[in-house]
Amino acid sequence: MDFRLSEEQEFFKQTVADTVDRLIMPKVEEIDRTDEFPWDLWKEFTGLGYLGMRYPEDIGGMDADPVTCMLFYEELARASVGFAQSVTMNMLMGSYFLFRFGDDAIKERCLLPALRGEKVATICFTEDQSGSDIGATRTSAKKVDGGWVINGTKNWITNGPLADFATVVATTDPTKGAKGLNFFLVEKGTPGFSPGQVLHKLGCRGTVTGELVFEDAFVPDQNLLGEEEGKGIIYLTEILNEVRCMTGAMAIGIARTALADAVEYAQKRVAFGKTIGEYQLIREKFARIATEMEASRLLVHSAAWKIAAGQNPRNEAMMAKYHATEMCIMAVDEVTRIYGANGFAEEYGPQRYFRDARFLLYGGGTHEVLKNFLGKEVLAGRWRS
Ligand SMILES: Cc1cc2nc3c(=O)[nH]c(=O)nc-3n(C[C@H](O)[C@H](O)[C@H](O)COP(=O)(O)OP(=O)(O)OC[C@H]3O[C@@H](n4cnc5c(N)ncnc54)[C@H](O)[C@@H]3O)c2cc1C
Repeated sequence: MDFRLSEEQEFFKQTVADTVDRLIMPKVEEIDRTDEFPWDLWKEFTGLGYLGMRYPEDIGGMDADPVTCMLFYEELARASVGFAQSVTMNMLMGSYFLFRFGDDAIKERCLLPALRGEKVATICFTEDQSGSDIGATRTSAKKVDGGWVINGTKNWITNGPLADFATVVATTDPTKGAKGLNFFLVEKGTPGFSPGQVLHKLGCRGTVTGELVFEDAFVPDQNLLGEEEGKGIIYLTEILNEVRCMTGAMAIGIARTALADAVEYAQKRVAFGKTIGEYQLIREKFARIATEMEASRLLVHSAAWKIAAGQNPRNEAMMAKYHATEMCIMAVDEVTRIYGANGFAEEYGPQRYFRDARFLLYGGGTHEVLKNFLGKEVLAGRWRS
C-alpha cells in the first residue's frame, strides 16, 4: 500500500495551487459581493487548458487520472466554490454525455469549445416537482419525423441562464419512471429553448443558477445522447461516482481555507490574557477539523483511485461525498465560532465559507438519500469493511 501522491501529481497540485492563488484568490470577495459571473476570470482561467483535463489528449485533454482531478477540484474550491461550480460543470456533467455519445459534428460544435472555455455547458435534471426523485421528471421528449420535440421547465440549473448548450434529461415514456429517461443535447438558438428566472442564492455567488424553459423545442435525432432509448439512468451511473468524489474534494477545499484562516485568528485573538488558541476547548475544534479533513481526503482519494482502477466504488463514492460534506459543514460552523462575533461579519471570510458549504449538501445526492441507500447496502450484506 502506498498513500503517496506521485511526483507528477505533487507537481500538478502545486502548479494549480499557485495559479489559483494568483488568479482566483484576489477576486473571491468581489465575486461574492457583486454576485456577477466573472467573465474576465473565466476567460483567463479556462484559457489555461485545465477544463479538458479528464479527457483524452486527442481532444485537447490531459488524460488525467481521477485522483489528479480530485487535487484540481480541491484547489479550485479552496478559493471559490461558486467559480469551481461553473468550471467543473463544463469539465464533467456538462460535457460528459457529449464526449460519450456525441457524433463528430456535436463534438466539434459543442464539446471542444466547452473544454476550451469558449462555450458554457450545463446539465439539467431538476424540476420544480422532482429533485432526488429523478423518476418523477416531467420534461418530455416526443418522437417526430427526424428528431424530438422537448417540453418542460428545469430549475436550479448551474450555468443555465448563460449556457451555450445543455444536456437535458427528459422522459420518452412517463409510465416507465426512471427507466423512461434520456439525455438530449439542446443548443442556444434552438427555437422554443430559453432561459427563465435567475435564482438568488445564499452562497456560491458569482455562479449563475436558474430555470431553463423548453416549449416545443425541436432537436434532430443525433441529439439523443445515448445508444439506446430509455437507458439514461444507466449512463448516468457511469459518471456519478466521479461527481460524488468531486463534491467531496470541493468540501475539503472549502474546509482547508476556513481552517487556515482560523489558525491565524486563534493565534492573534486574545481573551482573558491569553490567545484563544491556548484554550483546550478551542484546540479541540482544530483537532477535530484536522482529523475529519484527513479522513475525508482518504475517502475521496481511495474512491477516486478505485475509479481509476476500473472498479465501481458506488458505496465508497457515496461515503466520500457524505463524510467530506458533513466534515465541511462542521468545520465552517466551528470556524465561525472561533471568530466570535467576527464570524458573523461580512468583512471576514467565515460567513462566506458557512454559506458556500451548504451547496454541497444537494448535488450528487442529498445525505438522507445517500444514507438510506448505504444503510440498505449494509443491511443486505452487500457492503463489508
Ligand atoms: C447551488 C445549486 C446548484 C444546482 N445545480 C444543478 C444543476 O446544474 N442541474 C440540476 O439538475 N440540478 C441542480 N441542482 C439541484 C440539485 O441537484 C437538487 O437540489 C437535488 O437533486 C435535491 O433535490 P431537491 O432540492 O428537489 O430536494 P428533494 O429531492 O425535494 O428533497 C427534499 C428533502 O427530502 C429528502 N428526501 C428526498 N427523498 C428522500 C428519501 N428517499 N429518503 C429520505 N429523504 C429524502 C431530501 O434529503 C431533502 O432533505 C442544484 C442545486 C443547488 C442548491
